[in-house]
Amino acid sequence: MSEPQTCEVLIAGAGPAGLQLARRLAQAGVSVVVVDPLQDLRQAAFSSAALPLSAVTAFKLPAHVQAARWRGWQLHGPDDAQRHWMADHDLGAVLDFGALRQWLAEQAVAAGARLQLGWAVRGWHTASGGAIASLRGAGGQEQAVECRWLVDATGQRRALLGEPPAAAGALVAGAGVEWLIQVPQAQWQPWAQRLSFMLGSQWVPQGYGWVFPMQPGQLKIGVCRLHDARREQPPLHQLLRQLQHRLDLAAAPVLDRHGGLIRSTIRRREPHQRGPLLGLGDAVSTGNLLGGEGIRHAMASSDVLAPLLLEALGGKLEALRGYAPRLRRRLGWRWSLSGRLARRTWIGLHNSAADQRLQRLLEGLQQKSSAEELSALLFDYRFERYGLKALPYVLGWR
Ligand SMILES: Cc1cc2nc3c(=O)[nH]c(=O)nc-3n(C[C@H](O)[C@H](O)[C@H](O)COP(=O)(O)OP(=O)(O)OC[C@H]3O[C@@H](n4cnc5c(N)ncnc54)[C@H](O)[C@@H]3O)c2cc1C
Repeated sequence: MSEPQTCEVLIAGAGPAGLQLARRLAQAGVSVVVVDPLQDLRQAAFSSAALPLSAVTAFKLPAHVQAARWRGWQLHGPDDAQRHWMADHDLGAVLDFGALRQWLAEQAVAAGARLQLGWAVRGWHTASGGAIASLRGAGGQEQAVECRWLVDATGQRRALLGEPPAAAGALVAGAGVEWLIQVPQAQWQPWAQRLSFMLGSQWVPQGYGWVFPMQPGQLKIGVCRLHDARREQPPLHQLLRQLQHRLDLAAAPVLDRHGGLIRSTIRRREPHQRGPLLGLGDAVSTGNLLGGEGIRHAMASSDVLAPLLLEALGGKLEALRGYAPRLRRRLGWRWSLSGRLARRTWIGLHNSAADQRLQRLLEGLQQKSSAEELSALLFDYRFERYGLKALPYVLGWR
């Protein structure tokens, strides 16, 4: 191997978290390198990428990364009934995840970051004044990079940080499979402008199904299920096929098949730093299991880390001690409640008693809530509106 290359910050992973951090640091004049085994960031767009409008606005996401806007909810319950909640204005967007990554990468590169695609960080060790990371290219070639700070932004894989210690609490995992399908305009229309979920053990035991609109004529159809080692679980592809048939979408050509995992600890007490190594995004459990979403939380972790890392680069190393607590504050006190609720709701959804509970919840929501209130529940985790006294029961504490 030749002499190591050098940079101030090396980021492993060109997902929303890594790219947002690269953009912010490069804008501040830091020399940043981002490495990812993907050859093309528009490919392997594994995420459904539904977001509330507040995130679209906060991160100034341009129109070309938004495949569709949504303004309502359509929930298919265990009884097969469809319930609708529609607002008179947009409530969010479904992104083209590949386009989002590509746009973030362009922004980072324009600000001065270097992007090294087709390379993975395989290991690292501490060195005087930072770390030396070993990289491997798609053709097996090797390279060393010396940096002051190394960032694990490899998502739920946690390729550098490794698995969270047992003391950080249980790691809850959900596996999702999604297909991008092509449908005639008339068949696309009923799914347009809304996020549709299929809820109940007869749809997806221990999980849920969904249909999201993309640009006219395209839909994302998917299933997600939480892992439960105590129970035999049907294959996800089989559940997705059943969903397609029940929704009369089986004839639609499949344009892309993708999927992945979301894995987070509920309490988020894992270490966010080990010497010169810092964790970011899903690598430190910013993926939320309730709605299976984490793009905005991953990007928020970058916004929290960036100013602290700039202080550390300026010599104030102790600034980084504030990273984990600040990120916890940014995610809010409702965060771990939402994780508990996710575990209880989805893992428990495997029999008719759970279906009946869900059915009652959907009926209650239909009577009491507007589309905006449903968004506040599912994206802002505002459970207390439904009665703080009921929370211990909802969460299974009593
Ligand atoms: C099926 C599914 C549906 C989802 N739907 C939604 C949704 O609707 N809305 C939402 O907000 N979120 C959704 N999510 C979650 C969301 O995609 C993630 O929370 C988000 O992508 C996390 O961003 P990240 O940057 O932390 O990690 P990632 O996006 O996972 O990026 C990690 C990157 O690291 C790279 N990498 C891996 N190993 C290495 C290595 N050794 N060296 C260098 N790079 C490496 C990977 O190639 C990848 O590009 C979904 C996830 C799944 C699986």
